[in-house]
Amino acid sequence: APTIVWFREDFRIADNMALLEAEKRGQPTLCIVILDDAHLPGAAARWWLHGAIRSLDETLRGMGGALHVFRGAARAVLAEIVRKTGAGAVFWNRRYDPAGREADTAIKADLRARGLTVRSFPGALLHEPWSVCTRSVAPYKIFTAFWRAACALPAPFPPHPAPERLVFAPPPPMPDSLITRHEQDGLLPRHPDWAGGLRDMWSPGEEEAGDQLSDFLRHDGAGYATARDFPGDEATSRLSPFLRFGHVSPAQVWHAATRKACPDKFLMELGWRDFAWSLLFFNPDLATRNLRPEFDAMPWRHDPGGLAAWQRGQTGYPLVDAGMRELWHTGWMHNRVRMVAASFLVKHLLIDWREGERWFADTLVDHDPASNPMNWQWNAGTGVDAAPYFRVMNPILQSRKFDPHGVYIRRWVPELAHLSDDAIHAPWESGATHPYPAPIVDHRAARERALAAWKMI
Ligand code: FAD
Repeated sequence: APTIVWFREDFRIADNMALLEAEKRGQPTLCIVILDDAHLPGAAARWWLHGAIRSLDETLRGMGGALHVFRGAARAVLAEIVRKTGAGAVFWNRRYDPAGREADTAIKADLRARGLTVRSFPGALLHEPWSVCTRSVAPYKIFTAFWRAACALPAPFPPHPAPERLVFAPPPPMPDSLITRHEQDGLLPRHPDWAGGLRDMWSPGEEEAGDQLSDFLRHDGAGYATARDFPGDEATSRLSPFLRFGHVSPAQVWHAATRKACPDKFLMELGWRDFAWSLLFFNPDLATRNLRPEFDAMPWRHDPGGLAAWQRGQTGYPLVDAGMRELWHTGWMHNRVRMVAASFLVKHLLIDWREGERWFADTLVDHDPASNPMNWQWNAGTGVDAAPYFRVMNPILQSRKFDPHGVYIRRWVPELAHLSDDAIHAPWESGATHPYPAPIVDHRAARERALAAWKMI
């Protein structure tokens, strides 16, 4: 009776407990993905998912197997596969988003009722969310306390090797409506094809994740703590989409980084990732509810024009626009600039952070349902352990400080490339900037408006 390994957000063969345990079970293994409309990510992440599936399929083919892709409601598809294959077990690695957990609980009960062995394994986080909580089993609200508690636990388990002797089961005969060919999986954009910039920048896959990690540790690891805030330096790991789709596990990153004496600051960023998942675990509505309820009364502005200018990188503030254009073009944005762009939307434009969260969800290749809302709530001041709302980031000063020579701005806002290092941060001060837009809001006036709104609540 074959073992089904159901891949979801863990597109790797190394450090993959579900796959390893399937091998140990000693029966032929059927590796599957189910494209279930209820659980598909935003457009940019769907582009990545397509590449992730293709790349894992290639790896498994190299081992004599394949990744079989099905489409439909996961529960029904699994039941059908089990019926056709006579499978005796279904294994998967855990996901932690509320919709995923709910689905997995129901599917587990369903399959067990049919007499199957169902097992789920950790692997997407450094520590399971329920293992880092207060003595009264409540979630931590302050990151430093969370991280202290996480660091007091045993280090993440050393990564498991890839299985060596997997025997693959043949795919079951399934109705055409449930089978998907890679070319027709519906995950790629068609008209228009906006993914050119994504293709130039990224190659989804496990091998690529490994290369990216070793390159980072070789070149940038040591200087990370100081250089990470400078978007022109490209000094961060850019592992986020690889982690998001599980091409590499956080435990693999952790152990590789500690072996190379990478600064704690980098490990701590992995901690922020775990913290986000912990927050989501205990607050399933993290993407929709202000964690600080007083913000429910915030007089957010309805400003479709301002929102569109922000989305398209046409606010007239060079650092904000550079970031939003980098996002649109590559599906990724440097963390410092994400903060500046988020703050600009929420404070300068006084637009509800949930609008920004939704835009990022659709355009980021690394979007995940924990990190994105946590960081938005952090920047908007509505979250736990958040930057206070009254601390309004000045986009011009941020630009002068973190992109002093305009390297990053020149890359993404070429209309301004001819300006001096000094003028590039506030081009309106040096006269006509056409075709680059004039600022859509005045910094000082916008700041005062934001503070007045905040005082009202
Ligand atoms: P590095 O600096 O090399 O960090 C290593 C890893 O640590 C990252 O790959 C990521 O997994 C994790 N990490 C780093 N910073 C954070 C953070 N602040 N919160 C959570 N994890 C972190 N990150 C996402 O992975 N998905 C998102 O949807 C997302 N949305 C964001 C939205 C906003 C408004 C902001 C301000 C930040 C968001 N981040 C998100 C966090 C952060 O910007 C990215 O993780 C980081 O820029 C990824 O680049 P990197 O891999 O080079 O990071």
